[in-house]
Amino acid sequence: MQNKLFIDGRFVDAVSGSTIDVLNPHDGSLITKIAAAEAADVDLAVAAAKRAFPAWSRMAAAERGRLLLKLADKIEENLEELAQLESLDTGHPIRDSRGLDVPRTAGCFRYFGGMADKLQGSVVPVEAGFLNYVQRAPIGVVGQIVPWNFPLMFTSWKMGPALAAGNTIVIKPSELTPLSSLRIAELMAEVGIPDGVVNMVPGYGHTAGQHLAEHPEVGKIAFTGSTATGRRIVEASKGNLKRVQLELGGKGANIVFDDANLTAAINGSAWAIFHNQGQACIAGSRLMLHEHIAEEFLDRFSQLASSIRLGNPLDPQTEMGPLTSLQHRDRVLSFVNVAREQGGRVLTGGKAPGNSALAGGYYVEPTIVEARPHDRVAQEEVFGPFVTVMRFSNDEEALAIANATEYGLGSGLWTRDLSRAHQFANKINAGMCWINCYKRVNPGSPFGGVGQSGYGREMGFEAMHDYTEARSVWVNVDAVVPPHFKR
Ligand code: NAD
Repeated sequence: MQNKLFIDGRFVDAVSGSTIDVLNPHDGSLITKIAAAEAADVDLAVAAAKRAFPAWSRMAAAERGRLLLKLADKIEENLEELAQLESLDTGHPIRDSRGLDVPRTAGCFRYFGGMADKLQGSVVPVEAGFLNYVQRAPIGVVGQIVPWNFPLMFTSWKMGPALAAGNTIVIKPSELTPLSSLRIAELMAEVGIPDGVVNMVPGYGHTAGQHLAEHPEVGKIAFTGSTATGRRIVEASKGNLKRVQLELGGKGANIVFDDANLTAAINGSAWAIFHNQGQACIAGSRLMLHEHIAEEFLDRFSQLASSIRLGNPLDPQTEMGPLTSLQHRDRVLSFVNVAREQGGRVLTGGKAPGNSALAGGYYVEPTIVEARPHDRVAQEEVFGPFVTVMRFSNDEEALAIANATEYGLGSGLWTRDLSRAHQFANKINAGMCWINCYKRVNPGSPFGGVGQSGYGREMGFEAMHDYTEARSVWVNVDAVVPPHFKR
């Protein structure tokens, strides 16, 4: 298991020798200690990325793409090991790590590998005698900061487009979950991605992360994490006016109308909130039910939630694992009291499971709470297996509740009425809307939010554009002498 920083193609200790304990969320035991990057290490990583930039950005785009395609294959060859590492470190059920996280990581690198030589510039129809063409040029050294909820997948979402477009990278994985990312760094070296092109500096946010966001040699910072930290990133980036891309928190509205296929909506709503223990920015954490179907829906939904198998993430039968850290588990549970204090009704869960085999881990039962649209649990991101239910009586009210939040990331709706579905998809204030499904992602489809959920998009051509600058070149084809000041 790799536990050092990855700088300039080598695994090294932190300059200060500091380390961070990486804990197993299933039982709180120590998995390993990792080197903790600080400012001096970030400086070395940025210098390495800067040295690597000229050759990497001039390499034929198809060749950069070929290396990413090789990486995707390598990830699939190492699927089982990566899945185990991810589950051990984060608490993701192994069936998800095997079936979703690793395949999606490989799929994303493969998509951007194929994209590398498809990104084209343009020729603008300007005045006769002149040629104007626009190139998409890489930015240079980009900094990337990712959270702990999908560490493996986020390495591909962030690094895939940045590398395909010809940038070099300093990436800071979360201090809580660096293990799968460090394994990806090893695989990158194995497939021949040149030294210094990718540098990985796991460390604390207020030291390594802050220094990377402030760094004058970094041209762009791409951040995924909480809205509060996102604001700090914007503040830190102002010294050299670096570009900023923010993927922040969410409070997804998941709306079930009275004409919905209830079985599909119940199952889909459980997926929307309980997948990955609810630790997803796009989680359907506000479940809005039409009053005509609310009772039947809640009966069946509560039964489903209570039947979800909690357990050791490495057990293939496990459907929900622990939350990723003890502090986060306590924070999620604290929202149960917040709900009660404001008159909310806990329908299911609301506590750690009684099962003694799970006592040492950071587990929380699937929790369903009924509350009002302006209560704190309907407004603040809980980021756990905790769903806030609200009822509505007509479409107008549903839309008003859905949009009564500062966030705007994921959203979903369940209805058989096609025109209502399209109307809502256009009126919900969110970067993504799923109709009769929830939480679908694909490397070709733009991912990102509006409002306090951030700006910029991951995936697809949008992401490639976000990692390039438009460079406009003018050519005086007819060698026209400028008429002004002509002597
Ligand atoms: P966080 O903001 O605490 O940390 C995210 C990352 O930022 C970590 O690597 C952390 O070390 C680093 N960091 C912390 N303080 C920093 C600072 N001052 N300067 C620079 N870096 C700093 O978030 P978290 O608790 O790790 O993750 C959960 C949050 O991430 C939730 O709000 C969730 O919605 C959000 N998230 C958003 C998306 C999205 O795509 N929109 C995806 C996943 C998670």
